[in-house]
Amino acid sequence: MQTSRTSLAIFGSTGSIGKSTLDVVSRNSDTFAVEVLAANRDVEGLWAQVQQYQPRYAAMADADSAEALASKVKAAGLAVEVLAGPDSLVELAQLDSVDAVMAAIVGAAGLPSALAAAKAGKRLLLANKESLVVAGELLMQTVHEAGATLLPIDSEHNAVFQCWPHQQPNGRSTVRRVLLTASGGPFREWSAEAMQAVTPEQAVAHPNWSMGAKISVDSATMMNKGLEVIEACWLFDCPEHQVDVVVHPQSTVHSMVEYCDGSVLAELGHADMRTPIAHALAWPERIDAGVGAFDITQIGQLDFYPPDEARFPCLRLAREASQAGGGAPAALNAANEIAVELFLQARVGFTEIPNIVSQVLSAKSWSAEAHGTLEELLMIDAEARALATEFASR
Ligand code: NAD
Ligand code: MG
Repeated sequence: MQTSRTSLAIFGSTGSIGKSTLDVVSRNSDTFAVEVLAANRDVEGLWAQVQQYQPRYAAMADADSAEALASKVKAAGLAVEVLAGPDSLVELAQLDSVDAVMAAIVGAAGLPSALAAAKAGKRLLLANKESLVVAGELLMQTVHEAGATLLPIDSEHNAVFQCWPHQQPNGRSTVRRVLLTASGGPFREWSAEAMQAVTPEQAVAHPNWSMGAKISVDSATMMNKGLEVIEACWLFDCPEHQVDVVVHPQSTVHSMVEYCDGSVLAELGHADMRTPIAHALAWPERIDAGVGAFDITQIGQLDFYPPDEARFPCLRLAREASQAGGGAPAALNAANEIAVELFLQARVGFTEIPNIVSQVLSAKSWSAEAHGTLEELLMIDAEARALATEFASR
């Protein structure tokens, strides 16, 4: 007899995490069913997935793209309901027929649907780290109040989650610190001067992980690790100074937890996002992720050293925003999203990214802004985006 399958909504299904999620789901189709697929404007990408997975709903944030998808669905006579616009994602995240939501949209655009899933008490698989950076307090509070289950997909946080003392009554207080590993990105050994001439093509070519363009640039500036420090603070209820960053070019150790007795627990393996995705999909069980055997004898050497905040100022800026608190992390994130977008369009240089973020952070007292509700956070986001655009054009 077949037990009922876990029904999934995958937001950002046409992206790097979305595709890896569908790969894991395909290997475990007796356990998981795809109820919702959603993306922004990649009509061909979503159409291919709709034909393969035949979800009950497909949504596109961009209305014209949704229309194009709807006509394909109609012509093929598929029983898939197509929805349009960002609000449709919020609606779909709360469907009774959805058990778990994979939040894999890139940027603050992923916040409303992730928050809606939390509010509806879903199992929330969170790849969209920007949600926690922008709205950490609101999202964590919503998760707790609604009894949602929050599982981190980000490889470092998933590793920390696996090393965390969940089962011990006073477990949290036995943790001395969290150690997030960082590959250091493609420019780990470049001089500050050489980094001025970095092109978008060079920045998106990550040495160890295959990811979307925005997070690849974030990895290259190390803003990604800064965002991850903030993400870890919220997920594990840690002060910022308890979260350390260590550069580890091999990306074999995905992160560590150090305890008061000197024990250090690490999770390691291949640099393949299907591992944390499968972990979060099945937790507390384990399923096949399609990831091959790990031959530690082939690794040879693991290196670890401290990050260089002089060459990678984004890490310091993120820590400053975290310490400032309030609306500062939301402003940091918004400024970074704009700066990265302009860099990818070759309209500002690579080393302008931290400059733009820094100017936006010092433009006003973000920590004093009202930041308790989604609407207030989105106002901070919009204001910081406008300032970043203005500073970039100077
Ligand atoms: P990606 O660019 O490959 O994919 C982004 C997806 O989001 C696409 O499906 C796109 O259509 C959708 N999208 C973009 N804007 C949208 C909008 N406004 N409304 C609705 N959908 C929208 O990105 P990715 O690399 O898969 O990353 C997704 C998220 O996961 C990011 O927050 C990233 O930081 C996080 N993450 C990614 C990785 C990785 O290995 N790729 C690892 C850790 C965390
Ligand atoms: Mg990560």
